Amino acid sequence: MTPNALSKATSAVDVLVVGGGIGGLAAAVALTQQGLRVRVLERAAEFGEVGAGLQIAPNCTRILDQWGLLDEVKSLGVLPRNIVMKDAVDGSELTRLDLAATEARYGYPYMVIHRSDLHGTLLRAARAVGVDLVTNVAVSGYEQTEGGAAVVHAEGREEAPVVIAADGLHSVARPLISDDEPVSSSYVAYRGAVPIDQVAANDVSTDDVVVYVGPQRHFVQYALRGGEMFNQVAVFESPKALAGEEDWGTPDELDDAFAGSCEQVTKGLPLMWRDRWWRMFDRDPILNWVTGRVALLGDAAHPPLQYLAQGAVMAIEDAWVLSEHVGRQLAAGRSVAELDWDGVLSAYDAVRPEHCRRVLTTARAWGELWHVDGEARVWRNAVLRERSVDDYSYVDWLYGPTALTPDEEADMFVPESQRQAAATSV
Ligand SMILES: Cc1cc2nc3c(=O)[nH]c(=O)nc-3n(C[C@H](O)[C@H](O)[C@H](O)COP(=O)(O)OP(=O)(O)OC[C@H]3O[C@@H](n4cnc5c(N)ncnc54)[C@H](O)[C@@H]3O)c2cc1C
Repeated sequence: MTPNALSKATSAVDVLVVGGGIGGLAAAVALTQQGLRVRVLERAAEFGEVGAGLQIAPNCTRILDQWGLLDEVKSLGVLPRNIVMKDAVDGSELTRLDLAATEARYGYPYMVIHRSDLHGTLLRAARAVGVDLVTNVAVSGYEQTEGGAAVVHAEGREEAPVVIAADGLHSVARPLISDDEPVSSSYVAYRGAVPIDQVAANDVSTDDVVVYVGPQRHFVQYALRGGEMFNQVAVFESPKALAGEEDWGTPDELDDAFAGSCEQVTKGLPLMWRDRWWRMFDRDPILNWVTGRVALLGDAAHPPLQYLAQGAVMAIEDAWVLSEHVGRQLAAGRSVAELDWDGVLSAYDAVRPEHCRRVLTTARAWGELWHVDGEARVWRNAVLRERSVDDYSYVDWLYGPTALTPDEEADMFVPESQRQAAATSV
């Protein structure tokens, strides 16, 4: 903790946020926009994000717009024309989502953006609204207090009416609520964002998000930063992880995993960063994220496998739901000092865990479908090719407006055929 931070720590705040990732900063911005005093405690020496890409769906851009951040995000990101799914072995197209039509349907764009650009936008917004941003503070414990909660760190202890733990996959707060552990998928991700000219000879599409799905592996490509950069993600199941070896996910496994893939994929592999990789863990869903005045948010509450590209999006939705419930109380005439935090947290806990349970379990199943082999791959390809391009039944429940209450939560996957049958039987 810096001396500057120490002096700030003596001033009172309404909310303490632990973790300055996308989730923590989103919560800080949203709650400060409601008129609350918020302090963010971040373990790292600086606020930042890894330099790779992020897909953000309309259920996220809708919220960024409400916060006044969408224009900035649009100026930094890319609005692709389509999401195209292809077979990683033969390169043939399986299905696509037309993103102009998607924007027309949901009212907000599907975008891709450099992670540090989205994080930077939230950081600038946090500074602009006066969030107290403190680095070099690793929170090691939590306590309930009379009328609030406290965090413990190397410099001592800080209290607030509410503590939001947005401290990621290995959250220190989560054990207050659950004794679960991160679940290894045995899959590992390699990333690489490079200047666009490095892929000029690789037969890539710079207008689309392209996902190549194949046996025990997939490969994602899209342009970033107004088309100046090209982002690639290579994900595969590690044989060493399956064998229980400690040293898993190494670059030799990357090359082996993608042998026999189509040319567009194999040409991309040399551009992946080889000095770091991300072992992919999620957690089993839990249906309670609140204990007393401590609430989990973002990956601390619901780390997903990333196959639906909704991890950061869910964190931003969490922040919005929390702040909207605060806003409802303020609009009903309460002052900030009179906020019924138990009511806010229970409204948040009533709606978000079930939505995120659906996302986490669907992401696991969707990933399994991407990675099938043999007959299952033939069947999968046939099913995806049959999907009509204007069938949104698999994404309506995700991309529509975020529910503030359980009754607003959309039904999951009502297949188009069932919708039509229901419509004709009325
Ligand atoms: C390969 C890959 C691709 C992905 N693609 C997408 C995508 O396209 N779209 C999408 O929406 N999501 C995607 N995700 C998921 C997304 O990255 C995460 O869900 C999201 O970043 C989680 O944000 P967070 O703020 O909750 O947690 P984190 O980003 O983990 O942030 C936690 C913060 O808390 C800090 N911290 C931790 N412990 C402490 C402590 N004790 N005290 C103080 N500070 C602490 C950390 O330093 C960090 O800054 C992807 C993930 C992966 C691995």
